[in-house]
Amino acid sequence: MSQNPTERLEEVKDRIKRAAERASRNQDDVLLLAVSKTKPESDIMELYRAGQRDFGENYVQELTAKREHLPEDISWHMIGHLQRNKVKYIAPFIAMIHSVDSPELAETIEKEAAKNHRVIPVLIEVNVAGEDSKFGVSPENAPALADTVMKLPHVLLKGFMTSAPMTDNPENVRCVFRQLRQLTVDMNLKNNNNEKVDFLSMGMSGDYEVAVEEGSTCVRVGTALFGERDYGPAN
Ligand SMILES: *Cc1c(COP(=O)(O)O)cnc(C)c1O
Repeated sequence: MSQNPTERLEEVKDRIKRAAERASRNQDDVLLLAVSKTKPESDIMELYRAGQRDFGENYVQELTAKREHLPEDISWHMIGHLQRNKVKYIAPFIAMIHSVDSPELAETIEKEAAKNHRVIPVLIEVNVAGEDSKFGVSPENAPALADTVMKLPHVLLKGFMTSAPMTDNPENVRCVFRQLRQLTVDMNLKNNNNEKVDFLSMGMSGDYEVAVEEGSTCVRVGTALFGERDYGPAN
């Protein structure tokens, strides 16, 4: 791995470009989300100066605290499990919520978005591999939740998000990405009168190249940009 976040950013972008080319896709159709959880504002600023504008965080408190000191033109994405009582803190500014996993959460987002006179783009989190340790709805239940979300006037369903199981060999999780993409293909066939629901948030440091080959439109990359995370002794 290269030495500093700026060099790593170039390397990750280059790998995304080459993966996109292998799948006859355009690199510009893949958003690189820099996952900055546990990382200091100085690291975020380094990537910001290198041109990065989309950042992802997992915890509402960490996100809102960092945002106060950072440039206003950063697009913040909520990628972690979201509690309903925290939605109000991010509703005024959040660019996208990747982790909608229940009708109740979607309805809370609707209420808070309406209060802020905005429409909030969201993704439904799908637990494709059915892991106990992960949040998200099952692939079987995703279409029903999608139908519910699409009825909410201040919530815009853009697509789906998943985190593949940990693996040493990303080829092992190619099928997970393929399954999530198939979900969007099936949904768009069914809803041919609606706006396309085709945003796919999938791929992390260990597997983003395979995810891009399988149609990801947003990779969420932390470690490969910022280095290993240190959660500290308290955790
Ligand atoms: C932490 C996290 C990431 C980034 O993981 P890396 O392996 O460090 O790239 C992506 N998505 C979610 C939901 C995360 O919690």
